[in-house]
Amino acid sequence: MLALAAAPLGLKSHIYAPEEDSPAFEVSSARTIAPYEDEAALARFAEEVDAVTYEFENIPAATASFLEVRATLRPGAQALAATQDRLSEKNLARELGIGVAPFAPVDDLASLRAAVAQIRTPCVLKTRRMGYDGKGQAKIMDPADVEDAWEKIGRAPAILEAFVTFSKEVSVVATRSSHGAFAPYPVCENEHRDHILALTRAPARISDALAEEAIGVAEKIAKSLDYVGVFAVELFVAPGDDADRVLFNEIAPRVHNSGHWTIEGARTSQFEQHIRAVAGWPLGDPALVGREATMENLIGDDADRWKTVLAEPGAHLHLYGKAHARPGRKMGHMTRVTLK
Ligand code: AMP
Repeated sequence: MLALAAAPLGLKSHIYAPEEDSPAFEVSSARTIAPYEDEAALARFAEEVDAVTYEFENIPAATASFLEVRATLRPGAQALAATQDRLSEKNLARELGIGVAPFAPVDDLASLRAAVAQIRTPCVLKTRRMGYDGKGQAKIMDPADVEDAWEKIGRAPAILEAFVTFSKEVSVVATRSSHGAFAPYPVCENEHRDHILALTRAPARISDALAEEAIGVAEKIAKSLDYVGVFAVELFVAPGDDADRVLFNEIAPRVHNSGHWTIEGARTSQFEQHIRAVAGWPLGDPALVGREATMENLIGDDADRWKTVLAEPGAHLHLYGKAHARPGRKMGHMTRVTLK
């Protein structure tokens, strides 16, 4: 989707991927198939391009640092490293005075027991790194469950979080340019099924004050990381003392699934915004084109519904060209835009 957005701007994409069947190869002009650790391939790649970006945050930090000294890398390696680790993300949010549910670092079974005693159940144990779509997570309902939870996440360095009773999950997808301009999309409201994003609605049905607060959180984080590009901040809406408030959950240092609606639903898509930011160009208008947009993920067998989606007037179908539909795998999405 980034390569598709780059093309009408006159830019060519060179995709670096370890997989031989990366869907992006189908829509880009050059490819390198090599592991992220292959320094010779990385050096050749960096020589051939003007700027490097990524759409997956689990690229090794060492790969990003290696590329950063050889090409313009946006977002930078430091921003990537800070957002790869759930603990450093949460520490950053707390330092910036952003609301966050109680959390504690966990390095072994003893520190997990101490953290559960401090935070109390119910709580969620998450690996610090490499987790997504609920992978690397275990909910703890009772202190007796700690050993099972520790095994379930593979005894990896982790973070224990209080379980938040939220009324909504929202995200702010926003862009920061290399000149420091900040362009947020309207706050999105997200529904998850089995820990996987199922539906996004923009704008979120929350008060203007809460939306402003959520956007303020995103702006603060982006500025503190000197971030360049599109990112998403995921937040919980939870009851506060007087009114609802937002609690920080995590940052995704990349274009985000909850921003896919922007392709048809915003004046400038998140993919075009990211390309503009990476190129050092001025940002576009992030306003909604209509009143509301919704994006539904097509997960696993859902993709078999493609003909029904095509038959629906005004619905937009996107299929990613992934070779195999596994349960839980995002195969595509559809967007509906309500104009009036
Ligand atoms: P994450 O990978 O942190 O985005 O977690 C995936 C999903 O699990 C979130 O979108 C929530 O629906 C749920 N979840 C994660 N952390 C918590 C928490 N501390 N309290 C309640 N639900 C959570």
